[in-house]
Amino acid sequence: MKKNKTLKYILIIIFLILIISLCIFEKYHNGLTLVQLKNNTHRQMMGYVLKTKNKTIVIDGGLSENTQDLIGYINKIGGGKIDYWFITHPHADHATAFLDIVENTNINIGKIYITLNDLDWYKQYEPQRIEEIERFFNVIQNSRIKENVEEVTLNQKIKIDNLNCEILGVKNPEITTNAVNNSSMVIKMKINNKSILFLGDTGKESGEKLLKNQKDKLKSDIVQMAHHGQSGADKDLYDAINPKICLWPTPDWLWNNDSGEGYNTGNWKTLETREWMKELNVKTNYIEKDGNISFRVW
Ligand SMILES: [Zn+2]
Repeated sequence: MKKNKTLKYILIIIFLILIISLCIFEKYHNGLTLVQLKNNTHRQMMGYVLKTKNKTIVIDGGLSENTQDLIGYINKIGGGKIDYWFITHPHADHATAFLDIVENTNINIGKIYITLNDLDWYKQYEPQRIEEIERFFNVIQNSRIKENVEEVTLNQKIKIDNLNCEILGVKNPEITTNAVNNSSMVIKMKINNKSILFLGDTGKESGEKLLKNQKDKLKSDIVQMAHHGQSGADKDLYDAINPKICLWPTPDWLWNNDSGEGYNTGNWKTLETREWMKELNVKTNYIEKDGNISFRVW
């Protein structure tokens, strides 16, 4: 009699373990793979590949020198195609790999989400970088992708598999200092119970606007540090985000604020920003300087 009871308990425990394991497996399986590309040059850049169950998403992509790594991941985890491409802003360190892939490959690209001011606005507020902006304007007119390009709207919701995206920030034509960076697209993504916030090159001014208009939506488990972590948004914005994991599109010299003369010899705010993240008790930092990084969000 006692033996039977013990056997019954053992079977119940095995059954419970099996159910819990299945739930964990299901959640993991329904998560996404997130890749942060490394910088292959001395320059800062930004590129991410995300893979949900069935769809491949690219955010920015980096410089020409990052194109091969990006294509490698598109082939390796994306089955050779890109279903959704978000371009935060048209600066070369974010958009050149995109331009190269459109012009020089046959890789299939689905929807392309952009946020763009008029070309004259760029001419007026950032004439020194107008060449790269004009190239971007030309390439989005390329017949291969023209029909797939869509200008996002504020608070637009985009569902990709079980990934829920919301556009929290778009172009800000009224902000004319650090103009192009301050017109970065900001994307919030949620999958299972996890959230990721991509800030692009959000600067102080657009960061303030974001905090004012989207405060309730900012809290996120994972954040891509604004403007390569160097002098983007203020501490208030990160306090509202309150992340557990930080994605740093940051090369080593910038990580160490090294102007070439050694640690903390530059004028960038990266060390200060690193301190803020320590104060927020962030334990995990994925940094571009450490190579291509791939992990599961689930
Ligand atoms: Zn940048």
